[in-house]
Amino acid sequence: MKRVHNFSAGPSMLPLEVLEKAQAELPNYKDSGMSVMELSHRSGLFTDIITEAESLLRDLMNIPDNYKVLFVQGGASQQFAAIPLNLKKNGKADFVNTGSWSKKAMKEAKKFIEVNEIASSEDANFTYIPTVNTSIIDPEADYVHITTNNTIEGTAFHEIPDTGNVPLVADMSSNILSEEIDVSKFGVIYAGAQKNIGPAGLTVVIVRDDLIGNASEQCPTMLDYQTHSESGSLYNTPPTFGVYIAKLVFEWIKELGGLKEMQARNEDKAAMLYDYVAQSPFYASPVKEDSRSIMNIPFVIPDHDLDGEFVKVAQAEGLETLKGHRSVGGMRASIYNAMPVEGVEDLIAFMKKFEKEHQ
Ligand code: PLP
Repeated sequence: MKRVHNFSAGPSMLPLEVLEKAQAELPNYKDSGMSVMELSHRSGLFTDIITEAESLLRDLMNIPDNYKVLFVQGGASQQFAAIPLNLKKNGKADFVNTGSWSKKAMKEAKKFIEVNEIASSEDANFTYIPTVNTSIIDPEADYVHITTNNTIEGTAFHEIPDTGNVPLVADMSSNILSEEIDVSKFGVIYAGAQKNIGPAGLTVVIVRDDLIGNASEQCPTMLDYQTHSESGSLYNTPPTFGVYIAKLVFEWIKELGGLKEMQARNEDKAAMLYDYVAQSPFYASPVKEDSRSIMNIPFVIPDHDLDGEFVKVAQAEGLETLKGHRSVGGMRASIYNAMPVEGVEDLIAFMKKFEKEHQ
């Protein structure tokens, strides 16, 4: 069987063990004679799947009891609108602008509320995480929004700002489950599934109880957190297969030792790549050292026009989707939870060879 090391920013690799389990169970789930895809979302078998998925996620992330876990659709992009519509009280929010996804979140929120940018790294093409001066947070703001990991730019918050009584809302699409976090610091955490959770089409929202039930009148039923909270994410047909795969991924993480172990592995993989780039006269990292992501690692070849060739030859050697985002250029290796250490080793070996042939 052919499998490549897939460095795509998303959808991205899933653990082989998960794919194989899903394959084995595909036509006849638990002797039902049906695939999970064919099960009613109100059946006992699916109820067990979604209940177990939630319970595993709660366990992995140590989610306090006063938070709800919602399995919804529409991607993280849908949450850009759902958040202002659910949290709107005074009609304004503070945003930290750390790149393309923060900008999209702001643009969408502006349709519903006043948006204030309280920190930005746009002055340096988003190559660092700006310091958030928490004293300028508007105490009347409905929330403060951050993007904890910037998939395109390869930056990440290493310290979560203390926003006091103003709820902190975090887009964790590209680093959820990659490291231990303290959920109690956040009012809302949201993430599209297609990086560290499972297939595209599922979105996870973790929301504190007191932020549910206050949606503005024009909030569509399907975007209202109360709708999904009251119905156990079964108001309409949820993305059943996505929830099932997410459950398998959560089991996989648990078996490996949980987020502590994930974090150790991810830090080791990232350090290998950053260290190699740092000592090489051929490659460079565009990201400031204290702001680097352990999930998405951009690197460039500054003095040569070799990006196209690098990506093409790498692909031929089973190293898939290393092209950087067009706004950053160069290359980007996304090394989410499912990327084995061998993938990073093979990438570095390839980079060495390429460097030797082109310097
Ligand atoms: N936010 C971040 C940080 C992302 O990386 C992405 C997608 O890559 C999104 C939001 C958009 O997610 P979706 O495609 O699920 O709407």
